[in-house]
Amino acid sequence: MADIAFSPAGGPVGAVIFAVLLIAAWVAFALRIRQLVRLMRLGRPDNRFDHLGERVKYFVLMVLGQRGVLRDPLPGIAHFFTFWGFIIIQLDALNLWAQAFGVNIPVISSRPFAVILDAFIFLAFLALIEFAYRRLVLRPRQLESQSHSPVDAFVILGLIFLVLLTLFFFEVFAYIATGGADWTFYGATVGQAWSGIPVATATALTAVFWWANVLTVLGFLVYIPNSKHLHLMATPFNVFFRNLRHIAALDPIPNIEEREDYGVHTVNQFTWKQLLDGYACTECGRCNSVCPALATDKPLWPKEIILGVKEELFAAGNLMLVSHEQEVEESKAEPMVGGRIKDETLWACTNCGACVEICPVSIEHVQKIDDMRRYLVMEESRFPQEVIPLFNNLERNQNPWEISNDTRADWAAGMGVPTLAEDPDVEVLYWVGCMGSFDARNRKVATAFAKVMQHAGVHFGILGPEESCTGDPARRIGNEYLWYMLASQNIEVLNNYGFGKGAPAEANGHDGANGHNGHNGAVHNTVEPGQINTSLAPTDAANPVPAHGVGVEPGRAYNVKTVVATCPHCFNTIKNEYPQLGGNFEVIHHTEFIERLIESGQLKLPEGFDRRKLTYHDPCFIGRWNGIYDAPRKVLNVINSDGVQEMKRSRNRSFCCGGGGGRVWMEEKIGKRINNTRVQEALGTGADALAAACPFCITMFEDGIKAVEAQDHFQVEDISEILARALDAQPAVAGNTGTSGEAPA
Ligand code: SF4
Ligand code: SF4
Repeated sequence: MADIAFSPAGGPVGAVIFAVLLIAAWVAFALRIRQLVRLMRLGRPDNRFDHLGERVKYFVLMVLGQRGVLRDPLPGIAHFFTFWGFIIIQLDALNLWAQAFGVNIPVISSRPFAVILDAFIFLAFLALIEFAYRRLVLRPRQLESQSHSPVDAFVILGLIFLVLLTLFFFEVFAYIATGGADWTFYGATVGQAWSGIPVATATALTAVFWWANVLTVLGFLVYIPNSKHLHLMATPFNVFFRNLRHIAALDPIPNIEEREDYGVHTVNQFTWKQLLDGYACTECGRCNSVCPALATDKPLWPKEIILGVKEELFAAGNLMLVSHEQEVEESKAEPMVGGRIKDETLWACTNCGACVEICPVSIEHVQKIDDMRRYLVMEESRFPQEVIPLFNNLERNQNPWEISNDTRADWAAGMGVPTLAEDPDVEVLYWVGCMGSFDARNRKVATAFAKVMQHAGVHFGILGPEESCTGDPARRIGNEYLWYMLASQNIEVLNNYGFGKGAPAEANGHDGANGHNGHNGAVHNTVEPGQINTSLAPTDAANPVPAHGVGVEPGRAYNVKTVVATCPHCFNTIKNEYPQLGGNFEVIHHTEFIERLIESGQLKLPEGFDRRKLTYHDPCFIGRWNGIYDAPRKVLNVINSDGVQEMKRSRNRSFCCGGGGGRVWMEEKIGKRINNTRVQEALGTGADALAAACPFCITMFEDGIKAVEAQDHFQVEDISEILARALDAQPAVAGNTGTSGEAPA
């Protein structure tokens, strides 16, 4: 790069023409940005300006470090070079623009910068080849879009190619024209080789390529905010303003008792951040590639939901800026929910969180889906009819069935397990959940886990009839009011028995092995019962939390007044969602609890007792949503001589059982069955049994195993069932006989 004043624009006239074009392009750009911001501000308020230090840290990691996209090595590296190439080339563009007026900007016009620039021109060129190869030859399904033609992507690739090409030739001819004074690596190599070109010709060609470059870059400036590549500008903001509340918790509806509208059916009922998500979507299709609903041919393309909201914003939002919302809704050909976004799309979601976890730009699909479900359920009463009995029973019986809640403790009859009414001084409350209490198959799990605790001498009890459904299925289906009622009731009971924690219970339940998206950690604030807590503390994947939580004394496995749940859905809603209503409890999943008992020496297992080939399924609500991957595996590695044979998709890439998001209560009428797909995958490992850690998973897999007719050589068992059998088979160990009643049968 030259330190000399070098003007390739073609003298004063060229400089004036360029100045006019430069101003026009920036004005067009600014007007479009203003419009986009006005549209975004149609959304509801949401405070995303808190914890700025936390936000900056994550921004550096995900935007500058490109950690999200680098999970997919080849396209990730290509994206990394394109991103940094884009930044460096934009800096160089400033210098090219300044050269029109005979000015060189220090540093950017230096030789070291020229070397970096040329390196990135080459790397970005390689990245373009990779992108083109993917789109033209590999054509992965995840890149398909229902709302954009592939032409848009090729226009962008073409424009980037043009920028690189014009820059390359500009450098070469500028080197020749200035006799090497305008030094660049390409000039000093290619330009040197072409030194026979007359200086006058080289000067003219320098001007041609300079103009071609600046016009392409200015065209880009105007085109980007009007194209799908709007994400180039929106992504950094979207990552910066990501959700710092616990991502596994759905946002509550504020003032639910006084509201007249519920959920979302017009685009301005989303928050501004939810609208920004649409701008930020890179259309990479990673969310599509991991969605179990899409993989089994349901009409759910998570990417299309995000783009659908954006399209709706551009269509209805623009009208809302000039007319009343009511008039806009009446004038529209089709509504957003039920029209642009179909009901069956929303009902297909299992809330597995795979889309949220994999999205490199912190987009939140599940909250949007459940917001629209809230509208369908609470305002329209438009939902799969199979869930009517569920809602009725939850309301009447506090459980999903037509069974009196008074019989909730019947599964434990004769086991010597006290209710808290009988023994309020227990150290540990076993939260059994509806499946463990009433469902015949899952009662076996409850019995097995109780035996394990008795064997380890845990002083525990259950609530029995005082326990109600946590409300998770109601909330995930969209009946927020029912969740609110059930949750409030449970919180009161737990507080009455002294399980409420005044201070945060900290981030129990993490092995620090969460996915890249950085949403983990417990969040507990003190809120008056009945109030909604919307200002929860942030968490960060970059700071993994200790597996044993804060405050557990060395040698002890758990704190006094700990809640242990066998159901990941109960665990998740008590841990992450009850704080919204002022319920702060120390709650852990039973797989972690068992691992703690083993580690502390309180539970001794016959090592290698189970000699079957085992595989393990990560339940979404402890795995992806709460980062618990290692604890179940550690337990299985102790009890099984061969450890776990991993499935093709495991840990944060695990494939849902199909039962989350209330789907276990709905019929699966479209496409292939998700549970069968997962069972086939488990069978593919050659395992004899599938270890599970969730009652919904067990229910789904029991059905799946029958459907693929594998029941005579393949079983599904909860981890505690495997343990209980091992403990039953070994002679009683001193100190392992339980303190809560009878010795295990
Ligand atoms: S949560 Fe799971 S099922 Fe729902 S859209 Fe995302 S990936 Fe698909
Ligand atoms: S939502 Fe995220 S993962 Fe899905 S296409 Fe957009 S950027 Fe990619």
